[in-house]
Amino acid sequence: VMQVYFERIFDQNGVLRGTVFVHRDMTREYEVDQMKSEFVSTVSHELRTPLSSVLGFTELMLHKELKPERQRKYLETIHKEAERLTQLINDFLDIQRMEAGRQSYDFAKVDLVPLAKELIETMAFHAPQHRLELDAVTDPAPVRGDEAKLRQVLLNLIGNAMKYSPNGGEVRVMIREAGDELAVSVTDQGLGIPKESLGHLFTKFYRVDNSDRRKIGGTGLGLAICKEIVKAHDGRIEVESQLGEGSVFTLYFPRNQAVRGNEVRLSDGN
Ligand code: ADP
Repeated sequence: VMQVYFERIFDQNGVLRGTVFVHRDMTREYEVDQMKSEFVSTVSHELRTPLSSVLGFTELMLHKELKPERQRKYLETIHKEAERLTQLINDFLDIQRMEAGRQSYDFAKVDLVPLAKELIETMAFHAPQHRLELDAVTDPAPVRGDEAKLRQVLLNLIGNAMKYSPNGGEVRVMIREAGDELAVSVTDQGLGIPKESLGHLFTKFYRVDNSDRRKIGGTGLGLAICKEIVKAHDGRIEVESQLGEGSVFTLYFPRNQAVRGNEVRLSDGN
């Protein structure tokens, strides 16, 4: 995006001597502007949806005589929407902190097997329509990581796997060695992702747009956050998918790294 100014130069007799052109490359400013307006429109849309239902239901409760069971139902909705708002705001703050390099990490030796096991048990309890399986080909599976942050990544991937398989099916978490890396994959049998979207998934606010999914809520921030966290662990995240068949998200972490502080070498399997 170029911005062009020009100014004609006259001498003291009023004779045109020339024209000065100033070309300014505004690409960066334009991009920042675009991002800002995208941010504002996404944020305001995403915040407005839960807020308007909180407002609607509280108004109903204030102005109408309601049976206790109806009251309870409305309160549950209000609670759920308030939780969604909190999640949204946390996600916004997280991604901003990470992108600014202001996120601190507390690295230690983390075994991914019990972590995945615990998450799967918790998630299975809340989602009886999905079959959640853990396949720990490598056990134990120690990495140098921040446990809370790794939990956040896995929760996000397992949560997406369930969210984007509205008809249920199996969600399989597999932990295995892949060369000199540890790979954790989350496989679902859900909606899948169109080819042209695969390259954009980890961009913040990106959401695959089609009628099936429009009903499924989200901010488009989860995978961008995952990517930042995995990057901070010297790892990477990849996706494979077949539309209508399902998706596989795989995290790769380096193995054989010394954990600073307690001097444990992961390669010893200690
Ligand atoms: P959100 O789920 O809040 O929209 P994410 O960043 O977690 O944001 O994901 C971005 C987009 O990638 C989603 O909107 C969805 O379209 C697509 N996606 C993510 N995970 C899956 C999955 N397991 N199956 C199908 N589509 C997915």
